[in-house]
Amino acid sequence: MRTSPALTAITTLLPLAIILAACESRPARQSATPHKLTVVTTLSVLADLIEQVGGDKVQVKALVPPGGEVHTYQPTPNDIKAVAQAGIVFYNGAHLEEWIDGTIRSAGKQDLPIVVLSQGLPTIVEADNRPNPHLWLDVAKAKAYVEKIRDALANVDGANAAYYSDRARAYLAQLDELDAWIQTEVDKIPRARRKLVTFHDAFPYFARRYGFSVHGFIVASPGKEPSARELTDLARRIKREEVPAVFAESQFNPKAMEVLARDTGVRVVTNLYTDSLGSGPEANTYIALMKHDVSQIVKALR
Ligand SMILES: [Zn+2]
Repeated sequence: MRTSPALTAITTLLPLAIILAACESRPARQSATPHKLTVVTTLSVLADLIEQVGGDKVQVKALVPPGGEVHTYQPTPNDIKAVAQAGIVFYNGAHLEEWIDGTIRSAGKQDLPIVVLSQGLPTIVEADNRPNPHLWLDVAKAKAYVEKIRDALANVDGANAAYYSDRARAYLAQLDELDAWIQTEVDKIPRARRKLVTFHDAFPYFARRYGFSVHGFIVASPGKEPSARELTDLARRIKREEVPAVFAESQFNPKAMEVLARDTGVRVVTNLYTDSLGSGPEANTYIALMKHDVSQIVKALR
């Protein structure tokens, strides 16, 4: 039987077609794993807020690891690389992570979307005329961060805008519950005992929202050691103003706090979380962190 030229062409082309199909199967398999938006942020607390909104559509990296100290953090060459590979960057601002500007500049990525979460929100201005950066410890302000995160993610990844919007709505409802829970817990503390002394000045927004007064802190800005004079003044104030307990944040050495406690006889609580999540379940999300801190504060002051 004579083979037709057309059939010959088909049989000789067939192995090629198989090879082409095999080549094509690789990109096909890749697109089966959904592409995630690469997000870089500074604080682990912010990384959690972004993950709550972004779900499995985002891959979030916090430059400062859980337990790290964000004010005095020294960025690494890997941080610059991470920013260069990011699809979007979020940071807190209000002079908290002043090292981030240099990191972003070194990454040299044109048109990188950058979102400063505290921008445009009313801030509490300190004696040195700088805004206090710890807005997120007021849940109402954390909600404003979440809304900004939702809008920014939808902007750079419009295909998933509805997904981000749904997740943000559910998470904002959880934050409303958290806010109400904190108020109920704080109500257990007699009004005259709602006094805070902490290691660094992280609680003015928290205090304003939940009805505390801030009676002092060990360091004006992290990285600076308090002088003997400052510690004596603070000890005197704690006695005079009958502050029931003092609190140290987990990322700082509690030694100065313990000296203060010894001098004043006041109770010291050393494991609050403020700028960084903890690695354990008691503070590995923003909501867990807030519940942990409020429980510790209520236990010590009520
Ligand atoms: Zn701080």
